[in-house]
Amino acid sequence: MTTPARRGTRIAHIGVAVRALDDILPLYRDVLGLPTAPLDDADGARITGLAAGDSLVELLEPVASDSPIAKFVDQRGPGLHHVCFHVDDIEGTLARARAAGITLIDEVPRVGAEGKRIAFLHPKSTGGVLIELSEY
Ligand code: ZN
Repeated sequence: MTTPARRGTRIAHIGVAVRALDDILPLYRDVLGLPTAPLDDADGARITGLAAGDSLVELLEPVASDSPIAKFVDQRGPGLHHVCFHVDDIEGTLARARAAGITLIDEVPRVGAEGKRIAFLHPKSTGGVLIELSEY
């Protein structure tokens, strides 16, 4: 495996919690014209990706009633769930977040969808935004 070029932090995807994918997909696909990109299910959610330039919109529909997305939709209704940033060095970013007093949901990176290493920062310490980090 070759080492990917360092590209700097950028938005990888925006996660949107939905009640029913089939109801909201036409807005993104047909009205906004975003091409769909197949993605694996993850964390008890069925996921449809839509390409918006170099970034994705991920529509997250809960399939398990005890999944994080199901709890989010139950408590707050559908809507913006998280923003994911690609970073060049996820350990370094986590170390800077820890040093800055940010609450880490994942103390060490875990393997998420598509085999990428990911970690989440708690929204209570990020101004209300659930931030996901993903390494190339
Ligand atoms: Zn995500």
